[in-house]
Amino acid sequence: MENFKHLPEPFRIRVIEPVKRTTRAYREAAILNAGMNPFLLDSEDVFIDLLTDSGTGAITQNMQAAMLRGDEAYSGSRSYHTLANTVKEIFGYAYTIPTHQGRGAEQIYIPVLIKKREQEKGLDRSKMVVLSNYFFDTTQGHSQINGATVCNVYTKSAFDTSIQEDFKGNFDLEKLEQTIQQVGTQHIPYIVCTITCNSAGGQPVSLANMRAMYAIAQKYEIPVIMDSARFAENAYFIQQREAECKDWSIEKITYECYRCADALAMSAKKDAMVQMGGLLCFKDQSMEEVYNECRTLCVVQEGFPTYGGLEGGAMERLAVGLRDGMQQDWLAYRINQVAYLVNGLEAIGVVCQQPGGHAAFVDAGKLLPHIPAEQFPAQALACELYKVAGIRAVEIGSFLLGRDPKTGHQLPCPAELLRLTIPRATYTQTHMDFIIEAFQQVKEKAQSIKGLTFTYEPKVLRHFTARLKEIE
Ligand SMILES: *Cc1c(COP(=O)(O)O)cnc(C)c1O
Repeated sequence: MENFKHLPEPFRIRVIEPVKRTTRAYREAAILNAGMNPFLLDSEDVFIDLLTDSGTGAITQNMQAAMLRGDEAYSGSRSYHTLANTVKEIFGYAYTIPTHQGRGAEQIYIPVLIKKREQEKGLDRSKMVVLSNYFFDTTQGHSQINGATVCNVYTKSAFDTSIQEDFKGNFDLEKLEQTIQQVGTQHIPYIVCTITCNSAGGQPVSLANMRAMYAIAQKYEIPVIMDSARFAENAYFIQQREAECKDWSIEKITYECYRCADALAMSAKKDAMVQMGGLLCFKDQSMEEVYNECRTLCVVQEGFPTYGGLEGGAMERLAVGLRDGMQQDWLAYRINQVAYLVNGLEAIGVVCQQPGGHAAFVDAGKLLPHIPAEQFPAQALACELYKVAGIRAVEIGSFLLGRDPKTGHQLPCPAELLRLTIPRATYTQTHMDFIIEAFQQVKEKAQSIKGLTFTYEPKVLRHFTARLKEIE
């Protein structure tokens, strides 16, 4: 099958979930009823759901079968050992704690690392700063509620949709080291390396960048946590784009990447393909003390450390999902599907962030230049897309970013993006073509799309529950 232009699905579909077709009038009423916020729509009223790829994809036959092998013992479960051994083989990490999802790992390691710095050095946590190429929102939230200030050190090109670059998720290494020197190493309890960089549009981090970042971290004795939701997609991009790794397997690249961190936190709902699950793992003896503290906190927050937030069957399913999500053919197909959608949108003049791992990011600011940022162009686009075609997408822009808690002013946002997130092995090429056709219709009437204003605005996390109306 070497000489074909098409790269078909490398799987057969064995279970079908029917979806309902609706009329334009029905959808107009539904989105109005949802306060012009697609988060408040019922899933039954959505034809193609691109809200997230988190726990929404298909799972493999082997994952389904593995669930039956679960050992549901309260402690010392066989399924725990299966999972911990799989982690050891794939990532080379000695200690594993299963959690219910990614933020389950965050609510354990973040307070432990901040408290450790505070006690060791007798410091005030309000002076502490944590660094990342870009914090995912829950990682940022956990850092902030534990008293630290977050600082993202991303490259200049990261949010510029007119620039093409292989590794837009990279750390700005100069800014990383400068910030450490300015803030003082004792005030930095951890660095988070997010792969792929979700907030910049699923953009990868290169192995060379990780190595350089880790060398800086070691020089200043700061622990590094790999925020690992899309570790397999990141490894695939490294294989395709980084000369040193072009003949390496996904497994080898993954192992090399994880030498550049001391711990990993993972939302297993993304590349590990499970509907619910997460991991918190530590590399070696240098992290043993932190691991023990985390186990204690795990007992009160997630569960006994040999099941954490997961039942036995779910630990077995995760152990298989970690491997199935790293299959070369699978990753080639998945990344190609996202690129197909992005290229199709670009071809009809809809500007996107360059193709990343898990989603197409449409530049709504460019598609709807008549709507200013404070009237949320990407949210207006999301509502129009739903009205036209029953497609649910999510705003990644000013509406998500929110206000400065001190001044109450809207924070300036680097880009107004609409994210079309592709669940794994769930939608076909016909769906991608349908989405492109829907954008064609939206684009033709772009001038008539109206900006939005709040009718209800909660103080925090307004993205999920706010209600809006069109500005006449
Ligand atoms: C999804 C995600 C998280 C949070 O994980 P949940 O499973 O949603 O709790 C953290 N970091 C990154 C990079 C993610 O993509």
